[in-house]
Amino acid sequence: MSDSPVSIHKLDQLNETERKNLLQRTENDLSTFMDKVIPIIEAVRCDGDKALADFANKFDKSPITADQIRATPEEFAAARASVDQELIETLKFAAGNIRLFHEKQMPETLALHETHAGVLVGDRWNAIDSVACYVPRGKGSFPSSVLMTAIPAKVAGVKKVIVITPPGPDGTVDPATLVAAEIAGVSDVFKCGGAQGIAAVAYGTKTVPKCDKVVGPGSPWVVAAKKQLSSVIDPGSPAGPSELIIFSDGTVPPELVALDLCVESEHGPDSSVFFVTDNEEFARAVASHVPSYWSQMGDVRAQYSRTVLTGQRGGIVVAGTREEAFAYVNDYAPEHLAVLADNAWQYLTRFEHAGEILLGSHSAISVANFVLGPSHVLPTGGAAKTTSPLAVFDFLKRTSIASLTEGAYQGFAAHAERLARYEGFDGHANAVSAIRNQALRSPAKS
Ligand code: NAD
Repeated sequence: MSDSPVSIHKLDQLNETERKNLLQRTENDLSTFMDKVIPIIEAVRCDGDKALADFANKFDKSPITADQIRATPEEFAAARASVDQELIETLKFAAGNIRLFHEKQMPETLALHETHAGVLVGDRWNAIDSVACYVPRGKGSFPSSVLMTAIPAKVAGVKKVIVITPPGPDGTVDPATLVAAEIAGVSDVFKCGGAQGIAAVAYGTKTVPKCDKVVGPGSPWVVAAKKQLSSVIDPGSPAGPSELIIFSDGTVPPELVALDLCVESEHGPDSSVFFVTDNEEFARAVASHVPSYWSQMGDVRAQYSRTVLTGQRGGIVVAGTREEAFAYVNDYAPEHLAVLADNAWQYLTRFEHAGEILLGSHSAISVANFVLGPSHVLPTGGAAKTTSPLAVFDFLKRTSIASLTEGAYQGFAAHAERLARYEGFDGHANAVSAIRNQALRSPAKS
């Protein structure tokens, strides 16, 4: 059992620095990417579509030219014809669930409260004007990410929703990504990924429209470009390399935990995936099962998973006590948290910080990632301590609304005038007293 290569990190044997290192993710150290994205961003700002085509040639080995950045209606039709009908049905099933979840999440457009007689205050929610959904393609294709980003934006009422994604080596957009875009109601899809894609929607090019916000997961190149351009475009909350923590009290079969360890770790060598437990014997049983699941995966995905689970950003964390296990998970603030236990609900209140908490053996991360309804675009890199999963709220903004009757005004005016005089704002105070003393009347009433 002990010869499994899966890393086992025992919390009580780590010093403070080692424990801190165990909380690090790839995106926490973007230093190698931050400088390198600057010339890419500058090239797009200056040369627009030509730079996008050059970078597609260079980074994606995609032979497109500057006039081929936009996916054409013919490409949509070809994608529709080439994608398996059953996959299209699954994309529609997922889209329906994602739409339903987000429709139920929508707040009232206008929510007013009468806090005093004649005083109406509240919030109006309305959508932002334009959004770009980033759909990764470097290590695979992600039609599910189209649905998970574009549908909440559409439900929120965003007028212009576009998709940007790296082109493949044949110069096309992944066909299932195009079909998913069509199902989500998006017809503007552009072949630009990585830092250059983010720069394109931040500045706009002849072909790619400038957008107010960009959402969606991506590699560290994408995350670094979002950070560099955060004063030009709203970069949303970070959605970097995938992360998962599994917590179990040992009341489920160890094979189940071992299988889930292989789920997020197959995304890429930059993922972070841990199983956290206070039960060392169970931990070793889980570790012993992992290699057999690697042998059931494709070579590339198995290698990604092996890299993650045998390194410093993955494996098994053994805590001395259950309290210590909870504290570690809360410090980590993972993107996904799977609680695998007979009675998983009993642990819900112990976890304060996570993008998503999946409770029990059947609330499988694979189901949640693809077809359940909540978006799989979740805060990474510890951002779950202060931010929330992608949802309709990311595409809406609030405006405070207030209205006072003349009678209500009288109850507020003296207090407002007093504070205005104290803060040295004579203009404010004069305006208050003029209305209060009825010196000002509308012409119709005078
Ligand atoms: P990607 O599209 O994000 O990155 C690939 C692009 O990066 C390339 O098209 C290229 O433009 C750029 N790039 C690659 N090498 C470069 C270089 N040397 N110099 C400059 N630019 C370069 O696709 P990916 O690589 O598959 O990454 C997707 C990421 O998204 C993964 O880390 C995955 O874990 C994550 N993900 C996260 C979620 C989530 O919800 N958080 C969901 C799905 C995927």
